[in-house]
Amino acid sequence: MYIVQIASECAPVIKAGGLGDVVYGLSREVDCREHCVEVVLPKYDCMRYDHVWGMHQAYRDLYVPWNGGVIHCSVDCGWVHGQLCFFIEPHSVENFFNRGKYYGEWDDQVRFAFFSKAALEFLLRSGKRPDVIHCHDWQTGLIPVMLYEMYAHHGMGNQRVCYSIHNFKHQGVWSTDILSATGLNRISYYASRDRLGDNNNAGSINMMKGGIVYANYVNTVSPHHAWEARFTDIGCGLQPTLEEHQGKFGGILNGVAYDVWDPKVDTSLPVNYGISDFEGKQINKKALRERFLLAAGDKPIVAFIGRLDQQKGVHQVHHGLYYSLANDAQFVLLGSASEPGLNDWFWHEKIHLNENPDCHLEIGYNEELAHLIYAAADIMIVPSNYEPCGLTQIISLKYGTVPVVRGVGGLVNTIFDWDYDEAHQPSERNGFVFYENDAVALESALGRALNLYHKEPELFESLAKQGMDCDYSWKKPGDQYEGVYEHIRHK
Ligand code: ADP
Repeated sequence: MYIVQIASECAPVIKAGGLGDVVYGLSREVDCREHCVEVVLPKYDCMRYDHVWGMHQAYRDLYVPWNGGVIHCSVDCGWVHGQLCFFIEPHSVENFFNRGKYYGEWDDQVRFAFFSKAALEFLLRSGKRPDVIHCHDWQTGLIPVMLYEMYAHHGMGNQRVCYSIHNFKHQGVWSTDILSATGLNRISYYASRDRLGDNNNAGSINMMKGGIVYANYVNTVSPHHAWEARFTDIGCGLQPTLEEHQGKFGGILNGVAYDVWDPKVDTSLPVNYGISDFEGKQINKKALRERFLLAAGDKPIVAFIGRLDQQKGVHQVHHGLYYSLANDAQFVLLGSASEPGLNDWFWHEKIHLNENPDCHLEIGYNEELAHLIYAAADIMIVPSNYEPCGLTQIISLKYGTVPVVRGVGGLVNTIFDWDYDEAHQPSERNGFVFYENDAVALESALGRALNLYHKEPELFESLAKQGMDCDYSWKKPGDQYEGVYEHIRHK
């Protein structure tokens, strides 16, 4: 099969969060199964050009119809750790992708509607006719709409779309003007309730809803989150749409690319280790302590890695920090905030705790440091408000870092409580889980983890090793996506 992934991120060249990891990991997995996979991305000024090998121009003059005129684009291509990627660069006054950041601009909806249009135009003009187009999140929600309503009539009638939703919170809601900019001119037809009309804002269109309505298959990134999206307010207003299209909606758990995320092969660690030479973890712990000027000793390191966003349960992270310090543990945080209030809050904490030898807060985004923290920490907290899949807990398992998580979304599908999970054998349990979204619940789970570490270190180590033994590679999700691609291409 020939698959083209169209997305706003692909790690490590463009990564703001889990979406980037998934686009890279899934592409590599499907590619290894002897299918042809190509990835189409925006060419951002701020992407990591050092991760692209052999960048060259693939298409010089791509004229993309837009807003009644055309925008001249060029397309570069190169390999990102063996994966062929195409980067679309518009040359226009709007400077859509030269903003020094990936997201968070006032006109994001316009920027990514344009990208969606340009990606389809690129496939059309360059003669690419994949069996399946796999697109991701609201940024590419208009692709199945335009494919079915416009491009199918220009020679792309055989292409099918798999649409993956990584976060229901951001849906790409915008005024109907965006439709005519893309050439979808029958506004009242497209903006109707059964097509793109937003379920909550009359007069606005919803790009994610368009993706759900028009794609041949729709999924979110874990089975439990698929249930939450349909039956709870986690669906952020899209519940009726998912209900209507339930026959083509499911949940597929994300995998992790173990060629990148495995302490046995991780090139950014001071020392590699695995289950059989687990003591190597101690050398990484020492390296992290030296880097952050933390006190040496027997205390466990509790960590948090993630976006400092309400989604991630920042109040619980804050509470977990002080609870750890009060319970004979050290605490390390790596996170960045896009909301100024949250950024200021954590900067304030950082300054306040500056002299504390048991604590370090690193505010910002640092891929290489993330690897070291996964390897050095003993416990990782993931106290999310909601979590479509969550990669930090899955990566932590591989590094022998015991996850303490809130039982929501994909965390339910991946972490099984050491003391209480009756659905799993003791030998399959891999972490600690709490359910209520309050400090008492967090304390009970984190307290149990710290207690095991302090009182029964051998048992704690065997729990960590059980986590390392779990297989959350792309193999199973790769089978599932391959099955989906096979199924929809024959429709
Ligand atoms: P989300 O996609 O909601 O941000 P996930 O858990 O699915 O959350 O994926 C987060 C990914 O981003 C993981 O690979 C994690 O290691 C990485 N990450 C998050 N914050 C940072 C940071 N500040 N620095 C480096 N890596 C980070």
